Amino acid sequence: MHALAEATAESGFVTRAQLSALEVAGMPRRVIDQGRGIWNPTTMSATLSIISDPLSEYDDIQESDSLFRYAYQRGTDAGVHKKLRKAQELELPIIMLRTIAPGRYVPVFPVYVVGDDQAKRQFVLALDESLRFLRDPLHLSADERRYAERVVQQRLHQPEFRGRIMRAYDTQCAVCRLKHGRLLDAAHITEDGDDAGLPIVTNGLSLCKIHHAAYDANLLGISPDYVVHIDRDLLEERDGPMLKHGLQEMDKARLQLPTRRRERPDRDRLAQRFAGFGAAG
Ligand SMILES: [Zn+2]
Repeated sequence: MHALAEATAESGFVTRAQLSALEVAGMPRRVIDQGRGIWNPTTMSATLSIISDPLSEYDDIQESDSLFRYAYQRGTDAGVHKKLRKAQELELPIIMLRTIAPGRYVPVFPVYVVGDDQAKRQFVLALDESLRFLRDPLHLSADERRYAERVVQQRLHQPEFRGRIMRAYDTQCAVCRLKHGRLLDAAHITEDGDDAGLPIVTNGLSLCKIHHAAYDANLLGISPDYVVHIDRDLLEERDGPMLKHGLQEMDKARLQLPTRRRERPDRDRLAQRFAGFGAAG
């Protein structure tokens, strides 16, 4: 899991090729099954990883009244689930690989199997340590439910959003083209509660730390025609290279857009946000 965290740090997602030969202590290790959604290495007593595809019709359900639910695999023999039950019995952490595009995954770990709902043919998963020891994982109290929803937001939706944005923008800042994933954020255009955490690429921008902060502080605006604007007062200032090259020279620059048209920023959202920049400026 440490090696996986390292591999994910740059762009927020990993490829199937990386997962097929992840370097762990100098040795390549397989962290994903070659065909099925559940990877049960023969050398391990329990499941190591599961694939969860948010776009698949049946794969998993995140019901509002419970923890995360992972559907039994269809069309495979029951044996494939044995080691997931073993993970529950032995309280061993597993890795959940959330599909964000074909062959692209955002890993979530450690995840724990805390329930087996045989009636609904679903495993119940706790997405972090704090949700492992609930009294009744199949029926949460109102408080537990609220907490579980926040965990899903932090552990699932936020990393997924980052992974999708970094993939769409090829891990580079949309303003200055900086290509260091560790210095990049997945910034929201509209911070409205409903959409904020959902992995909607068109409500996001890949921005380096400085341009993200400048955008949030209305020192940098982005008009709906995808042009960068720098605050007028800031343009008058004189200071070192960060101000000059990092900010002032970005004025009127064209945004670096995702190559896939449907992943480009929503112009209505940009316009709404840009009105705030105009008012502040
Ligand atoms: Zn930048």
